[in-house]
Amino acid sequence: MLGLGRRDVLLGGMSLAVLVASGAIARAEAELRGQFVQGTLIRGRTAPGAKVSIDGKALTLTSTGDFAFGFAYDRTAQATLRVTVPGGETETKTFDIAKREYQIQRINGLPGDMVEPPASVMKRIEHDNQLIGAARALDTDEDWFAGEFAWPVKGPLTGFYGSQRILNGVPKRPHFGVDIAAGEGAPIHAPLNAIVSMAEKDMYFTGGTVILDHGHGISTCYLHMSRLDVKVGDRLAKGDPVGAIGHTGRATGPHLCWRLNWFQERLDAALVVPPMA
Ligand SMILES: [Zn+2]
Repeated sequence: MLGLGRRDVLLGGMSLAVLVASGAIARAEAELRGQFVQGTLIRGRTAPGAKVSIDGKALTLTSTGDFAFGFAYDRTAQATLRVTVPGGETETKTFDIAKREYQIQRINGLPGDMVEPPASVMKRIEHDNQLIGAARALDTDEDWFAGEFAWPVKGPLTGFYGSQRILNGVPKRPHFGVDIAAGEGAPIHAPLNAIVSMAEKDMYFTGGTVILDHGHGISTCYLHMSRLDVKVGDRLAKGDPVGAIGHTGRATGPHLCWRLNWFQERLDAALVVPPMA
């Protein structure tokens, strides 16, 4: 079991050898970055033009052969990766996914309508969820996700991925972000090159919310912002301003709730960044 305390979990190397029969036996490899643990993002590279699937789901590859996939916070089943290189040879490999222990986080003093939303706001919440789901569904042909992520803001970590939340004494869904405390108005920076795929000033739970698309289904979310410096369609370079820390939506104090997704799968952003300096 891996404890959540190890937020500096680093990228383990893993290789998948693929033999290519083309007269002589050539050898292609899919190199994988990331540990096979619950909630992780795995990034890989293989021969350009290869076909890759995870658990039977075909992945789109960049022109350089980069691809990515992830595992849910509660994933226990083994994963099956299949790579078919140009020329036709197929290699299939099965991996175990290591379990993690998640914290229990109690938050009290939230306004009652943020814990049990009144019926009058259900339409608004549904609309918010549609916007978020659409942004996370994009499969943009950009290879930025294969780069090195930076922290979007630095500060004490006050909330962790996968923790079971008990809000005002009521058990809720797990929390899927990493919460970084910082002063109201502190700048948030793009962790990687991106296109802004959603920018909403006032969502019910998450207040000022931005989603950045890093290509091939990898996106990051920025919640509770006090100010947005971007709009949908903006192209950002790593380090560009996204907006400012706030406590809009369901938040007890100023912080960034930072999230990472592979399409609709919620992953642990803390696993893709180096230890905070
Ligand atoms: Zn959070």
